[in-house]
Amino acid sequence: MIFDTIAAKTTADGSSAINVIRVSGSDSFNIVNSVFKGPNLLKQKSHTVHYGHIQDKNNIIDEVMVSIYKSPKTFTREDVVEISCHGGNFIADEILKLLIAHGARMAQNGEFTKRAYLNGRLDLTEAESIMDLVNAKSHKQLQLANNQLKGDVKRLVDELQERILNIIANIEVNIDYPEYDDVLEMTNEILIPNIDILLNEIEQIIKESETGKLIRDGIKTVIVGKPNVGKSTLLNTLLKEDRAIVTDISGTTRDLIEADLNLDGVILKLIDTAGIRITKDVIENIGIHKTKKAIESADLILLVLNQSEELKDLDKELLELTKNKERIILGNKMDLGKKINLDNESIINISAKNKEGIEELSKAVKKLFIDEKILNSDRALLSNIRHIGKFKEVKQALLDAKKASINQIPIDFVEIDLRKAWANLGEITGQSSNEDLLDHLFSKFCLGK
Ligand code: GDP
Repeated sequence: MIFDTIAAKTTADGSSAINVIRVSGSDSFNIVNSVFKGPNLLKQKSHTVHYGHIQDKNNIIDEVMVSIYKSPKTFTREDVVEISCHGGNFIADEILKLLIAHGARMAQNGEFTKRAYLNGRLDLTEAESIMDLVNAKSHKQLQLANNQLKGDVKRLVDELQERILNIIANIEVNIDYPEYDDVLEMTNEILIPNIDILLNEIEQIIKESETGKLIRDGIKTVIVGKPNVGKSTLLNTLLKEDRAIVTDISGTTRDLIEADLNLDGVILKLIDTAGIRITKDVIENIGIHKTKKAIESADLILLVLNQSEELKDLDKELLELTKNKERIILGNKMDLGKKINLDNESIINISAKNKEGIEELSKAVKKLFIDEKILNSDRALLSNIRHIGKFKEVKQALLDAKKASINQIPIDFVEIDLRKAWANLGEITGQSSNEDLLDHLFSKFCLGK
């Protein structure tokens, strides 16, 4: 596809040693060449770097290195030029203005990646993974994003589409050429086990995606406990150990602080209820209300008890409040002795102050949420909520197909549900139009008699 030529700074705002401006489109060489004093870029080999100056008429703006990449072996599959100029917003903005004056257009957010997709360089899942790659905060997140960029999710989807297509094609042949003996017979009875195999696999993939989603997005975790049990101390211990990135949620009254904590490769999105204070006298006050809300929305509760003293009413209330959630009970202040015992509940002994027991906590989190078997399996792990949503639609379409088959609905009607499942899968990678389906179908079966 031919698009206009776009330009944007690819490095972040702020001061840095170097900024890179990317220009992509059929006019990119001409545009940059017209403001570049140095070797004639139109005469240079692809994938080479050139020294020179960016000039506005005779005014030098900056001393730069220019990298040129001729289509199609480029990120967007278009002609691409990258100008490495000195850092700072001013220089980059001046160069951008000049490029725009010479015919480029300012790129929108994500437009280079969008072109890479539209020009067939990346499928949708690969394009999406680039964002994950940039945002990764742990090795496991990085691994997940890299696998997706390598095309793991695309391969999984392609393979499932292929298998559904096979069934569709067999139905088509049966409908169009019922008189041929050599055509594989397709009946509801034959369809049902075939759909079942696919369904089982899709269900398994959806189940496994929980792990993927938690790795990608982190585990929303809330620390709760009555005053003085050591919540803040625990938070500080955790944060210091792992150099977590602490971010205030803007727009709130600062009573919720969010921090990303990397616990041995698994990200806990810690919601610290720092500003939420529960007082003994006024249990039904704002504090407990907010705590309840925080508990409801969390994936994981870290309930902190002071194990060196008997359980108080507030402890019991919090135990009750969190009993239906995934929770880990922490018996803090282990250095002061143990006075509590919970029936049928395991407690992890820690000392937040002395930084003891954190390893056990990390193991317990993993045990609750991360299935190592899934992580080490060869199958692609879904983590993107859009992909997971589509898989759920595929599952529904296959369930409909199975139900129709069981009810002895004619197979050409069952085919409608199968086509839907095929199309839902294709929406994940961006290959789902009817034309795509027909192309695939006819490339597989030479029905052109
Ligand atoms: P919060 O109100 O639950 O946030 O409790 P804090 O973190 O402010 O801790 C209350 C008090 O308990 C502070 O004086 C801490 O130093 C102390 N503390 C926290 N953890 C421990 C621990 O593991 N052992 C001992 N001995 N004291 C602790």
